[in-house]
Amino acid sequence: MDGLNRRGFLKGSLLAGTAMAGMAVMPEKTLTAAIPKAGAAEPAGPGPEYEIYACKYAGPLVKKLAMALWNSGWDEDSPINFYVWAIREPSGETILVDSGCSPAQAAARKIPGYVNPVELLARLGVNGSNVSKIVITHMHYDHVGNVENYIQAFPKAKLYLQKREFDFAVKNPLAQRKPISVLFDSPICKFVGGLEGSDRLAIVDGDGNLAPGIDFFLAPGHTLGLQVVRVNTAKGPAVVGSDCAHLFRGYRDDNPSCFITDMPAWMESFDKVKSKAPLDLIFPGHDVLMQTNYPSVAEDVMRLV
Ligand SMILES: [Zn+2]
Repeated sequence: MDGLNRRGFLKGSLLAGTAMAGMAVMPEKTLTAAIPKAGAAEPAGPGPEYEIYACKYAGPLVKKLAMALWNSGWDEDSPINFYVWAIREPSGETILVDSGCSPAQAAARKIPGYVNPVELLARLGVNGSNVSKIVITHMHYDHVGNVENYIQAFPKAKLYLQKREFDFAVKNPLAQRKPISVLFDSPICKFVGGLEGSDRLAIVDGDGNLAPGIDFFLAPGHTLGLQVVRVNTAKGPAVVGSDCAHLFRGYRDDNPSCFITDMPAWMESFDKVKSKAPLDLIFPGHDVLMQTNYPSVAEDVMRLV
């Protein structure tokens, strides 16, 4: 285990340990509705068919497999990538999912291969004129850290963030305790808090509809208020799952990553997410397979479906 991996392992272990020790990080029960069992995917409802793109903004970063797949493969190296996603209606606008981290965060954390996600999206023709919605799946730095650049680059866009995630990251002092703040970057939490009440931030609570054929679902476990996005596509319903699993294998092996806030909630979220789309159309947060197994339409921009 090299220095980077040891530090990463310690970060993950501390977070997991916090949850497993039953500290008062968790609020009341985090799901609003009955959890459907895994099985046949629900229809996504009426709406246009969208395309989903993954933009690889950093990586590969070599970690131990067990960091992305809880307690499996401590002696096995496993690279991960960092992504943002774009959901595009061929004749219409683009909905963005996550902002990635900022250039300064990438430099401070020595994350290799960084490209500003705004530049990657430009390769796809996504710019300030055609984005009105940005879903923030959760408040970890690698998903929201670049949000200030997004706010500037997409001036008509509104952020969509779950209330539980906002309340914890912005208003709960526990988010700034050492083992948790490793992933919740304080200046970014303050910046997002400053958007409260403005027309740039919509705080949503639970499951809901974002646009015709696009829904969001609360899926806690990795964080208290992580949300995923289900999208109507030519192949049927697909889910941009972000870190509800770090790898495709996470859903198949029924095993989340080691970055845990609430393990029981996470297992319930697996069932919920698996009920929304077939396994091969549920996309994880950090799997290198999103780069290698899908056609690229520009450098580091892959069409997932
Ligand atoms: Zn992540």
